[in-house]
Amino acid sequence: MYCKNCGKEISDYAFVCPNCGVKTENPNAERNAPAEKKTNTLAIVGFILAFLIPIAGLICSIIARKQLQERDEGGAGLALAGLIISIVELVIVFIYLIVVIAAVAAVM
Ligand SMILES: [Zn+2]
Repeated sequence: MYCKNCGKEISDYAFVCPNCGVKTENPNAERNAPAEKKTNTLAIVGFILAFLIPIAGLICSIIARKQLQERDEGGAGLALAGLIISIVELVIVFIYLIVVIAAVAAVM
């Protein structure tokens, strides 16, 4: 097809004319555009909570990963990051508690 502004030949799937930058009124453009995937809400929540409340972040991330297996949503990386961060933090807290308990026990 041709740009109706400058008359140059452009791709049938172009949103804008690469020559003059004017938006095309291309019926194919929208249909062929890769639909932007919605990011799974729980994946985002889980990732944020992983830093604040690791146990809540862990639970949200696990649920998010389950949802992502069933739904066509984005956020798999976020859910995995939330899961790993939560686990790492829980392990650190766990080790810290053991050290504190051992120290208290040693003193008593
Ligand atoms: Zn043009």
